[in-house]
Amino acid sequence: MGVLSGWRLCPRCGGELDNTESRAECSGCGSVYYARSAPTASALVVDDAGRVLLARRAFEPDAGLWDLVGGFLEEGESPLDGLRREVLEETSLHVEPGAFLGAFLDTYGDGAEAASVLNLVWEARIVSGEPRPADDVSELGWFARDELPEPQELAFSWVAPFLAGLASSRHVR
Ligand SMILES: [Zn+2]
Repeated sequence: MGVLSGWRLCPRCGGELDNTESRAECSGCGSVYYARSAPTASALVVDDAGRVLLARRAFEPDAGLWDLVGGFLEEGESPLDGLRREVLEETSLHVEPGAFLGAFLDTYGDGAEAASVLNLVWEARIVSGEPRPADDVSELGWFARDELPEPQELAFSWVAPFLAGLASSRHVR
């Protein structure tokens, strides 16, 4: 499934769409829609002891599982502004982004609701504040690198291999 799957009518004018599922063009108004992955900004918040901050998801998809702090970028929003905004919304923490840790493709949701997501991940350090769960987070936890949650307790499919790779990484201290 993709974001244009099942689209038959133009959301602007109601005209018929010529839909290849990677691209849909309206015969009425000429609007063209493209299927793209949705970018997120995620923070690997690290403390001075090297522990990482994880957020337990309050809502589906993957409610109850541990995730990195972060979320979808808004239209036109710079990724680092989005990262700071999402961390503040979910944890009450002001952070400063550090090293870019990578881009990870994944799927958000199931079935007809499934969307392709491109997760952009930065290390981040706390500038001020005390962690308090809010927004779509039910709980926050600090985890030492060798005491991370089991893979089945982690949200989505990219988080477990990402954290596993981190355990041996020298880039994040
Ligand atoms: Zn149209």
